[in-house]
Amino acid sequence: MSRKPKPTIRQIEARLDEMTQSVNQYIGMLIGELDKHNTLILKMLQREGLIDEKECPKCEGIIRTPLLDGLEDNGDCPYCGYVFDDEQTTLEDYDFSTNGTLSDYAPEEE
Ligand SMILES: [Zn+2]
Repeated sequence: MSRKPKPTIRQIEARLDEMTQSVNQYIGMLIGELDKHNTLILKMLQREGLIDEKECPKCEGIIRTPLLDGLEDNGDCPYCGYVFDDEQTTLEDYDFSTNGTLSDYAPEEE
């Protein structure tokens, strides 16, 4: 019976380089696929009007939140941690009966 000779350090290093290259190639491919899927999902949600986009006032990052049941907006910027104010007044929330009408806020005509 013949035994395989032990590989030299140089052979082990060469094999390791090959494996590293293969793994890097595979990871690159996976990242490319993930990116494609993310783009597809985003485009589909945008088409259905199911994406809320807002810009972070601190870092100017664009925060996209899917408007889907079970997915809560955690309320802070994922890039810099800026905490958005939940009590922010929207136009719909604004009480015009006590604060005047919208036309009161229109710029004056000359
Ligand atoms: Zn931010």
